[in-house]
Amino acid sequence: MTTTALPTTARAAKIARLEAAATRIRHHALTMGEVQGQGYIGQALGVADVLAVFYGRGDGELRLRPEDPEWDGRDRFLLSIGHYAIALYAALAEAGTIPLAEIETYGSDDSRLPMSGMASYTPGMEISGGSLGHGLGVACGMGLGLRHRGNPARVFNLLSDGELDEGSTWEAAMACAHHGLANVTAVVDVNGLQADGPTPGVLKTEPVTEKWRAFGWHAVRVDGNDVDALLAGLDEIRDQTTSPSVLICDTRTGRGVPFLESREKAHFMPVAEHEWAAAHDALDGVQR
Ligand SMILES: [Mg+2]
Repeated sequence: MTTTALPTTARAAKIARLEAAATRIRHHALTMGEVQGQGYIGQALGVADVLAVFYGRGDGELRLRPEDPEWDGRDRFLLSIGHYAIALYAALAEAGTIPLAEIETYGSDDSRLPMSGMASYTPGMEISGGSLGHGLGVACGMGLGLRHRGNPARVFNLLSDGELDEGSTWEAAMACAHHGLANVTAVVDVNGLQADGPTPGVLKTEPVTEKWRAFGWHAVRVDGNDVDALLAGLDEIRDQTTSPSVLICDTRTGRGVPFLESREKAHFMPVAEHEWAAAHDALDGVQR
């Protein structure tokens, strides 16, 4: 049964649970940021709602066995944006793949949670990211392999709008469409920002939706900080059977913490030592 088929009250309850999961993911990310005194916290706060709809325990889109991250029937979620690792660790803690207490080790020597995502370190981290623009190519190969083996698992690649600068992304997009990989879904975090500045000033990527469609993809664009809209987008994508799909998510950097949302946008947002506790309070609606 798809989410849209749920009675109104059940759907509203699911949305409320996922919004609560997103808030916990934000708290987990802030906890990790505070441990190291730094982190890509603006991106983590911005993408938390997207991760909640995939990893929310009992409600998430991904078919997973949190205690068995190598299960062959699992859906694969590929994080090609290695610096978003802090956000994925928070989601994996929410899902139960990473023990919650372990997030305190973030970025420390001998931790399983290095500051950039690496598959050999972390349960649930499918690929090593950081060399941007390669996730979709790997997703294409995984999608072909799963289909060849008759495995119904799906493959998702969370990529950034900065990765739309990369030719390898579009090469992979063309290949996925050529092979009719309906088991592959790209999820693009369009936060309008990349390492060298606001995306429109670095390389004009819009119109993003039309570009994906021209490459043969089923494209859906939603407010990436609206759980209801994200669920509707995933419902639509689940019904696709002949082409790959892309969920384009417009997100707001620092979402949920007003003083970070309004901060001058920077790829590596500075957060002062005293601000971490204030950020936790802001998420909980505590006035200071
Ligand atoms: Mg970006």
